[in-house]
Formats: sequence, structure tokens, C-alpha cells
Amino acid sequence: MANKRDYYEVLGVAKTASQDEIKKAYRQLAKKYHPDNKETGDAEKFKECTEAFSVLSDEQKRKTYDQFGHAAFDQNSGGANPFSGSGFEGFNFNGGDFGDLNDILNRMFGGAFGFGGSSRRSSGGAYRGSDTLMRIKINFMDAINGTTVSIPLTYDEKCASCKGTGALNGTEYEKCSYCGGSGRVVTQQRSIFGPITTESSCPTCGGTGKRIKTNCPDCNGKGYKRIKKNIEVKIPAGIQSGQQIRVSGKGERGVNGGDNGDLYLEVVVAKHNSFEREGNNIHIEIPVDFVDACLGATLKVPTVYGEEDLKVPAGTQPNDVLVIKNKGVKDLRGNGYGDEYVHINIKIPTHLNKEQKKALEDYKSSIKSGESWFEKFKKAFKK
Ligand SMILES: [Zn+2]
Ligand SMILES: [Zn+2]
Repeated sequence: MANKRDYYEVLGVAKTASQDEIKKAYRQLAKKYHPDNKETGDAEKFKECTEAFSVLSDEQKRKTYDQFGHAAFDQNSGGANPFSGSGFEGFNFNGGDFGDLNDILNRMFGGAFGFGGSSRRSSGGAYRGSDTLMRIKINFMDAINGTTVSIPLTYDEKCASCKGTGALNGTEYEKCSYCGGSGRVVTQQRSIFGPITTESSCPTCGGTGKRIKTNCPDCNGKGYKRIKKNIEVKIPAGIQSGQQIRVSGKGERGVNGGDNGDLYLEVVVAKHNSFEREGNNIHIEIPVDFVDACLGATLKVPTVYGEEDLKVPAGTQPNDVLVIKNKGVKDLRGNGYGDEYVHINIKIPTHLNKEQKKALEDYKSSIKSGESWFEKFKKAFKK
């Protein structure tokens, strides 16, 4: 996975490219490098641009790629993958068999892509369901420490008894004779641009490519079952608002026995009363008595991991910021911890008792004439 080219570079588009531009760029490259193209075909390059397209054409995957780069999709990166072990799986290119891909290309470009055809298509025209997006709100501390959330879900699961075919034992069906089992019918028309091939669902089998002889009793011939249950999703420590976790296979159901799409969970992190997060650093404002700021003190300051001793040095000024190292948020990519920034808010008493007043007057009289801050300022002030 080393030296993997940037997906935007592969497609030759800007980071801000629209979906139309991405699609257009891919279409040109895919035509050029398609292995069936005798002159300029190049399987490796074709694979590369198809992979780039599969990520950038999907707004959710694109967002993840923009945030994490290839690391988010690289299953071999081990610890570097921020989502490893949390149900997030990388992109897999189904290399070798271009049959399914030609179907996708033809669907995408209105059947006029030009390579491959229904003869290469796997029977049944099975394809994957759409991805779905769900937002979940978690509290501030859970985002820092990581947590497991239980999400009530309703989704369709491929029927195991019939493997999604809807037929008894997964075998009691035959190919639709009208479409030959492809589920699609191809018609060719002449136009001023030359012949145009269009594809549509087979009217006889409704696109399934099958004629069921005996219904599967478990799903009544539907090929899927509606599942209602809570699923547990691990949220990694350090996650930030807006980041997404992919839960494999819990999106919309596939068509004709195809796999389910994926579910993306977008995490929204609630605010905290005292802590504020900025990247992996934590900020907190603490009130400090003016005497402690003058004389210095050691204070027990809250951090996201409990209290820590903080030495406030003598002579600390209003709005000074002190740093407690490594008490920020754990980095998602495993690069240690952020820091805590402690903002000093010096507090002046609004009421003094007799004793305190006396002590401060003694302090005042100990300052030599002309040595107070204000007198020094006046001396240096130029009209
Ligand atoms: Zn079934
Ligand atoms: Zn048919």
C-alpha cells in the first residue's frame, strides 16, 4: 500500500471537483484503460481509477478519505486504521472479474458504455444495496474515552435458507426464459450518434432473472427477512463530531440476492460545561485567587482523566495559559495524546474584611513612591 497515489490525482480532478466532474473524468479513464480496449487497455490503471472513483463518487467515503487519506481504507495498516476493530472496513476491489463491473458501468452510463455486456453478466443481476446514514449523539466524555453504543435497527437480512433466491433450498427455481436469467433486457436503437444500447429490467421476471418453482417457506419467496434488533457499535476513543463509522452490511438490502449496503454512523459529540475541545487538545478556564497568582500555588485542576496538580507560578498574569502535557485526547491514529491548556482567570475579591484590608494597606505602603505600576506607566507615557 506504500506510495499509493492520491485519488484526486488518479482521476485528474481538483479536491473541490463536483460529482459530475468526477464521473466525467472516470468515464474517460475507464474507457481508455478498460482491459477490453485493445489499444490503450491497462488492467492496473483501470483498477486504480476504478478504486479512486468508487471512493470519490460516494459522498460519505469521500468525506472519510478527505479526513484520513488512504489509512481509512487500508485494511492492512493495522494500528494506523482509526476504525480497526470498530466495524469499519476498507474498500475492497473485486479484481479479476470485470463482469459485475461492466454491469455497473453500463448502468452508470446509461447502457452505452461499450464494453462487456449481458453475456458477461452473472445470472440474476444481483447487486448491492445502498448505503444508509444515521446520526448518533454521544456525550463529551464518551468521545474521549471511547464507548460502545447500542443502536436499535430495522434492516433486511438476506434469507439464509434460500441464500436470497426466494426459492426452496435455494435451488427450486429456473432461469427466466425471457431474459436468459440476466434479469435485464438489452435493446438496440439507431440514433444520429450511431447505435445506442439501452438496458431495462426484464418485464417477465421483474429483474430477478428467476422463475421460482417452490417458494422458500422461511421468507415466503421474498429472499430476505426483516430484522429488528439492537446492534452494538464500538466508538473509538478520540472520535470527533462529524466523523463516521461504517457498520458493514447494515444498509439497504441488495437486489436479487445481492449484499446489503453499509450503514454509516455519523457521530455528534455533545458539548461539555467546562472542557472545550480543539483537535486533540482540551481547554479549560479556571478561577485563581489574586493572592495565589501573586505568591504562587499548587492547585488540583480537573482534566478529562481526573484531577491533576498544576503549579501556578508566583507572578502569574491574567489570561496566562498553563499547559498540562498529555492530558488531552488520545489521537485516533495512535500518535499519543493532546495537551490540556489551562486558561487563568484571576479573581479579585469584591469584599474585604478589616484584617484583609489592613494587610493590603500594609502591602501598599511597602511600595516605594513612584514604583507602582500606574506611576511607572505615567512616567513612560509620551504625549
Ligand atoms: Zn428464504
Ligand atoms: Zn427475466
